[in-house]
Amino acid sequence: MAESPVAAPAKAPPKSLIGSTIADRYKVESLLGEGGMGEVYLVQHTHMRKRFALKMLHPETSHNPEMVARFEREAMAAAHATHPNIAVAIDFGRADSGAFFLVLEYLEGRRLRDALAGGPLSVARALHIVRQVASALERSHELGIIHRDLKPENIMLISQQGDPDFVKVLDFGLAKVNTEQLPAGLAGPGQALTKTGTVCGTPKYMAPEQCVSAPVDGRTDLYALGLILYEMLTGVNPFAGKDILTTIRHQLSTPTPPIKSVAPA
Ligand code: ADP
Ligand code: MG
Repeated sequence: MAESPVAAPAKAPPKSLIGSTIADRYKVESLLGEGGMGEVYLVQHTHMRKRFALKMLHPETSHNPEMVARFEREAMAAAHATHPNIAVAIDFGRADSGAFFLVLEYLEGRRLRDALAGGPLSVARALHIVRQVASALERSHELGIIHRDLKPENIMLISQQGDPDFVKVLDFGLAKVNTEQLPAGLAGPGQALTKTGTVCGTPKYMAPEQCVSAPVDGRTDLYALGLILYEMLTGVNPFAGKDILTTIRHQLSTPTPPIKSVAPA
């Protein structure tokens, strides 16, 4: 998966979307990032004169009903999980190309992954960040939304109200959503869209139950958050192996090395 620095809208135009207008109202300015499901662009709403981030599914993916349902689930999760530490979604639609898109508040900042590139964080800074992510999780879990892909790539740090490390949790693309718990009992593509037996997530942050495709709940996200905290304090992920299977084996059976052994004080 492409590693992409955030915010600075300075990437070379990937295709011809830059400069075009999507759904008669979103003018594409630049590419912000790329992920597994598509690209994220910085756009300007032509009537509101406001910038947003627009996540576009690959056109070929837009013909895959399971992927479209997953994307709709992401839209529902990000639209309903209103919380200061969660990036809010404001629109969902289909472009002339047939590709589905999701519009989110634009976050000008950097990913926790990029902040970690400079080495471990101070204890105070790590705790400040982890507290905000935990607060975002409390809200989404209360709504029956399990993120399932918490990792430093999906946590943005923006500057807000004098705080340079204000957290915004992103990317509910793998979220498990229990639609009955959403306001007004919204119908739609609910949970369990992932085919039985399919392992989804990012192995370095996957809880044992997720590694073996067993049912997940809020604790699955907390496990990932624990590993993120460990990484903020030590600079390393204790279970990262040479390949995916080794990593999964560590998640399942290797005791967590004491922080002192990895980052002696
Ligand atoms: P994927 O499901 O493809 O991983 P993400 O939602 O994680 O997609 O977005 C991919 C990247 O795009 C992020 O890591 C970030 O760099 C950038 N990005 C996503 N949403 C926003 C946003 N609201 N504001 C600014 N940048 C964003
Ligand atoms: Mg992502």
